[in-house]
Amino acid sequence: MSHDALRHVKPACRAVGAYTLAAHRAPIKVNQNENPFDLPAELKQRVLQAAAERDWARYPDFDPGELLARLAEFAGWRPDGVLAGNGSNELIEATLLVSVGAGTRVVIPEPTFTLYGLMTTLLGGTQVPVPLAPDLSYDGDALLAARRAAAAPVTIVCSPNNPTGSLLAAEHVARLCDDADGLVVVDEAYHEFSGSTVAPLLHAHRNLIVLRTFSKAMGMAGLRVGYLLAAPELVREINKARLPYNVNFFSQLAALAALEAQDTLRARVALLVRERERLRGALAELPGVERVYPSAANFLLLELASARPRALFEALHERGILVRDVSGYPRLSRCLRVSVGTPEENDALLRAFGPAIEAVGAAPVAAARSI
Ligand code: PMP
Repeated sequence: MSHDALRHVKPACRAVGAYTLAAHRAPIKVNQNENPFDLPAELKQRVLQAAAERDWARYPDFDPGELLARLAEFAGWRPDGVLAGNGSNELIEATLLVSVGAGTRVVIPEPTFTLYGLMTTLLGGTQVPVPLAPDLSYDGDALLAARRAAAAPVTIVCSPNNPTGSLLAAEHVARLCDDADGLVVVDEAYHEFSGSTVAPLLHAHRNLIVLRTFSKAMGMAGLRVGYLLAAPELVREINKARLPYNVNFFSQLAALAALEAQDTLRARVALLVRERERLRGALAELPGVERVYPSAANFLLLELASARPRALFEALHERGILVRDVSGYPRLSRCLRVSVGTPEENDALLRAFGPAIEAVGAAPVAAARSI
């Protein structure tokens, strides 16, 4: 008897690659859009103390009621319209699990966060890609037209978009929500850095789902907390796809503490936004950098003058700086993504960049640049 267990795995799964990231290490790590500032030591101590006093042998409450209540206050939305997840990744999965089956059309801008397409495919859905505008900004009209043409039950938009930093204006989101009753999922993982949110639209649009995370502005990527905001009747359905006890008690305690430390966190976000603009200006001046796209997030997308992002990634890594090679994304074959670090980290990146470019011979021919 031949044994081929793999033939029992769905063909759609066999056909895709895993979402993965090589475990590179470097003193300056600007490859995952994390917050470069750890949570304050005093806050961490308080959480550790509270965790030590709790009985670890017992499950957390089935619904993390206090966390949901505080998240609702924080987001200006109702507690029965909030769901907490083990990172927002889990909530992306839960949302698609309850809405996507064989052949479900899902409108997804391109390029964007790859998990949407991967999950859609694994669930048997059909991706309807909608290209960003030539300058990699959102094309609201194209999104609306694609959604109409496909009569798509689900549209997912990342705003600010990873990896381009583009923002989809609230009026475009409202138009998508108004046009039909298909779900409109807006992933706001980076919204704090943009100073804007579509959460107020939840009051008028019962097909809107907003996803957020504690992994970026809130400085808690290691503890895996995300949350979802939507109409209570949608939350009740998506909740069915959430695994029991998905947010462990330690992460709940830490999230509650982070919500109380908003003044500190907001000041850090403001600093990172100032640094983003400083870094953007300085990077744009460097030889070998064709263009730095405007960003509403805590990272920047750079396009190189010549097509050697992988070599430059390696040359920066040798100099102790880990950036993200996004050249495999559609349309980004000459691009790298860098997260905004501390001012010192950003200075170090700027110092290393020129020599790294020179080392890989990626500096442009002067004449070519002036064309
Ligand atoms: N959405 C976007 C757009 C992201 O960039 C990320 C993290 N890379 C996530 C969601 C996942 O975040 P979390 O850590 O909350 O799972």
